[in-house]
Amino acid sequence: MRDFSNDHSALALNTATLGHNLDGFGAGWSPEQVIDGCAARGYGGVVFWRREIGVNAIAIGERAKSAGLKVAGLCRSPFLVGPLAPKDKDAIRDDFRSSIDMAAGLTAPILTIVVGGVEPGTKGMRDSLKLVAERVADACEYAEKVGVRLALEPLHPVYGGDRSCLVTVRDAVDLCNAVNATNLGLAIDVYHVWWDTDLAAQLKRAGENLIYGFHLCDWLSETRDILLDRGMMGDGVADLRGIRHAVEEAGYNGVCEVEVFSKDNWWKRDPNEVLDVVVERFRAVC
Ligand code: ZN
Repeated sequence: MRDFSNDHSALALNTATLGHNLDGFGAGWSPEQVIDGCAARGYGGVVFWRREIGVNAIAIGERAKSAGLKVAGLCRSPFLVGPLAPKDKDAIRDDFRSSIDMAAGLTAPILTIVVGGVEPGTKGMRDSLKLVAERVADACEYAEKVGVRLALEPLHPVYGGDRSCLVTVRDAVDLCNAVNATNLGLAIDVYHVWWDTDLAAQLKRAGENLIYGFHLCDWLSETRDILLDRGMMGDGVADLRGIRHAVEEAGYNGVCEVEVFSKDNWWKRDPNEVLDVVVERFRAVC
């Protein structure tokens, strides 16, 4: 396992950690300020959300590169199924493709996919997962042409109804195997997988070819808001070292992306403080 105690070159900031992915939260730093703040502290990369990029993908990608930062990824695809997905199949496909184009413009190698919840009119996960497989397969062909890889992120089962019918690494590996595209893999997020006692075995099944990303935060034992009360690494009950060990044993050696949604704590702080604490915790407890 890599030793991060004196080296945080593998650290990437997901800008959600500064509250940028929602209106009215965070200090409102521009992408350029985020790039400068991360570069000044020696971060290796940054992951943006679509709403921050607008029509400036190419310029922001170049800005990051010239500051010495990788744009490690882009969040995220539209929901592909379920009650929060765009209104019809064509709208879903078009928005999926424009998210892929944005990733390509940024030169982000990975676009994260959050698949969406249970399709209206159906019950349980199976029918929705079948639809997801069809829509992802179509997008993989499109993404292949512009050099973007797609990372399916299984979410914690608590989001199963509206945000993600994909709730286990096991089902995500099955989905990758069913679609069988060379540019489809997984993003493993501590928040969503920390509880899974079968995680190491499923990561081994995935292997290095399927693990595209690793996201860090912590699970607070008293979670007050299931979406917006993630913990900073070290403040919760997730076995961060154990999970990273399993991810790296399976062959992953890419960036570790810190993604802390925290409307009542970290989003209220000065981003300079947040960026400093992320580096300290990354070195000390991850
Ligand atoms: Zn994540």
